[in-house]
Amino acid sequence: MAASAEVRRIVIENCAIATVDAGDTEYASGHVVVADNRIESLGAGRAPEGLENVVRRIDATGHLVTPGLVNTHHHFYQWITRGLATDHNLFNWLVALYPTWARIDERMVSAAAQGSLAMMARGGVTTAMDHHYVFPRGSGDLSGAIIRAARQMGVRFTLARGSMDRSEKDGGLPPDFAVETLEGALAATEATVDEHHDPSFGAMTQVAVAPCSPFSVSTELMRQGAELARRKGVRLHTHGSETVEEEQFCKELFGMGPTEYFESTGWLGEDVWMAHCVHMNDSDIAAFARTKTGVAHCPSSNARLAAGIARVPDMLAAGVPVGLGVDGTASNESGELHTELRNALLINRLGAHREAALNARQALRLGTYGGAQVLGRAAEIGSLEPGKLADLVLWKLDTLAHASIADPVTALVFGAAAPVTLSLVGGEPVVENGRLLHVDEDAIARATREEAQRLARIAAEA
Ligand SMILES: [Zn+2]
Repeated sequence: MAASAEVRRIVIENCAIATVDAGDTEYASGHVVVADNRIESLGAGRAPEGLENVVRRIDATGHLVTPGLVNTHHHFYQWITRGLATDHNLFNWLVALYPTWARIDERMVSAAAQGSLAMMARGGVTTAMDHHYVFPRGSGDLSGAIIRAARQMGVRFTLARGSMDRSEKDGGLPPDFAVETLEGALAATEATVDEHHDPSFGAMTQVAVAPCSPFSVSTELMRQGAELARRKGVRLHTHGSETVEEEQFCKELFGMGPTEYFESTGWLGEDVWMAHCVHMNDSDIAAFARTKTGVAHCPSSNARLAAGIARVPDMLAAGVPVGLGVDGTASNESGELHTELRNALLINRLGAHREAALNARQALRLGTYGGAQVLGRAAEIGSLEPGKLADLVLWKLDTLAHASIADPVTALVFGAAAPVTLSLVGGEPVVENGRLLHVDEDAIARATREEAQRLARIAAEA
């Protein structure tokens, strides 16, 4: 234990605060005291007098402080294949892009990860995740490159080590050259967990086991992947119930719908979270609620690929843990999570008499505490409470875009994307006045353009 004299405190005052705790406690004008990597205290009015070792005191007038945003579904590598197949549904989009994706290498993945992370971190994401499932033979240490990029950015990170072993010759969607073998995928996933997963409180890097989807993964890989994750004590992630075509695929190949298929392979449980879950009937939602299986809701991606609208209000009412996801930026070119707060709210209201389907506070909860829940980290992050990690964001709400909206949470969710004055991850600044502190944004932009062009060239020659 450090002696108290060594504690470093940051004091944030004169701001609105949305804690997103169990009671949705808010303060119109309050303070947050950060001690080292944790929140020490918070409340109404100014910070207590006489605090020692205050290394920084911030007058946050005009700001709202919230927990840092938590992204629960992404594919970083897609940063260098944005803006392609722009008018396709999921299966046609995948078939159009697989041949290009199968040519990625470590340098491309590294640049793409930096681009994806930079865009999210700049918009208030303090915990990121990457579901990476394309591992071409001889492409280098892709997992290592992704994890290094997250460490450099300074954000908390979960790598969902993906895999595909059901190619066209086995009735799957990816081409034969884009997949791994069952044994190879399992061994590489286990090695990634052993090398990189940190189970401790405040971990900066965790690993999940994440076969890609029912239509690109064998039943055996689903089963053995679940066994591997439980043996190692790590979480499980995959895509589920994204489109009507996927439902048909499952019915034809397995004789059951996606949720029954997941249940039959050990893929429902409180250690599982699944992206999309658009096509869920009442009994599917009840099964998720009963087993506490989590959902990564990706409203913009679902709209981009015309997948449909996930039944988020029904899931929340049933007690399903739900977080938000950007999804890969080949199906959500913006790559921002703070705009997904607004999109989640708006998309879930589409339809007659749905004006109260989701409110601003629920949308903020999806993007913070809900995300922490589905990543299995709700005891550490996702709400502002004494003892939790100091992952938080100061949103600037006193300029043209928001100043005339009285309620700060309404301004943040209904209004334009708010600028980030400061974000902290474990008490360490990652963004200051809208700029990333640990990386050069312009250099990342140049590198991502070069790598996108290099990939396009290689794919065209193949
Ligand atoms: Zn996805």
